[in-house]
Amino acid sequence: MKAIVLDQPGHFSTAELPEPEPQAGEAIVRISRVGMCGTDLHAYRGRQPFFTYPRILGHELCAEIVEIGTNAQGLQTGMVCSVAPYLYCGECLACRNGRTNCCVKLKLLGVHVDGGLREYFSVPFHTMHHSTALTPDQLALVEPLSIGGHAVARAQLKPEETILIIGAGPIGLSIMAHAKAVGVKTIVMDVSEDRLRFAREQFNVAATIKAGENVTEQLSDLTNGEMPVVVFDATGNAASMNEAFNYPANGGRLILVGLHLDFVTFRDQDFHRRELTVMSSRNATAADFQRTIALLEAGKIDITPWITHRVREEELIAQFPSWLDAKAGFIKAIVSWS
Ligand SMILES: [Zn+2]
Ligand SMILES: [Zn+2]
Repeated sequence: MKAIVLDQPGHFSTAELPEPEPQAGEAIVRISRVGMCGTDLHAYRGRQPFFTYPRILGHELCAEIVEIGTNAQGLQTGMVCSVAPYLYCGECLACRNGRTNCCVKLKLLGVHVDGGLREYFSVPFHTMHHSTALTPDQLALVEPLSIGGHAVARAQLKPEETILIIGAGPIGLSIMAHAKAVGVKTIVMDVSEDRLRFAREQFNVAATIKAGENVTEQLSDLTNGEMPVVVFDATGNAASMNEAFNYPANGGRLILVGLHLDFVTFRDQDFHRRELTVMSSRNATAADFQRTIALLEAGKIDITPWITHRVREEELIAQFPSWLDAKAGFIKAIVSWS
């Protein structure tokens, strides 16, 4: 069975692996599509934190069940599924409280353990989310879309609220998709005019702001002087995350979705005066996957503009390096595995 292995930064090779053996509580799946995102580019560049080599990439997955045992929780051979790449223990305090996305033993397929760039592999039942209505491309993109779905669920948005999303990359876009479904008034900020135009065209957002230009004044003008109730930061940029503390209204919420490896700082007086609620948002849960699938099935999210590159598996090794070029306009690639 063929697999594509990232041996070390900057170098892929193909490998012949033994066929997977059926495990208790797991299904053998045949990979159909693998989405590639910025995480994969970082791993290739050698800049992904906590990443070890060699590694089989692939955490945005659509796969068909080809072998499954008993007690399969409603799953059957032939079902085509989105695979949630989060392997959680089910026993720790976070898992017992339904917070499987931040399990103390969490391992991500394609990041901490080998992922889906291979013909077949064995995955736990709990990772599989089935839909007959979605295409393989849509099922592969449920994972990145669910990241925004989780952040929006954390924020507990109400339709009458005005929100600010900082960062209009793939995570910001996935927040926009779920926020639009709630019906809030959305303002988007980014450094890139192209990304802001994309947000206006795709999500019909209420307003866009170019980062760095009188932001507080502009936000005040757009909200009758009240400021946004909820602010999402999807940049992972330290300066942006620190600045983000200035934007929520009194009594507002700040959700840090992007992450970086150093400190985030804020002035306590400003934080206390407004009694802000600050939270992080990490990965996604099964409920976030189910909500994302429902939105896709209802035609509420169009994934076509997200897919900037498309290859068959035998072309991947040759094509991958070209995606690193800023001029490639890379948002997401879909690898077809036939
Ligand atoms: Zn990804
Ligand atoms: Zn756990």
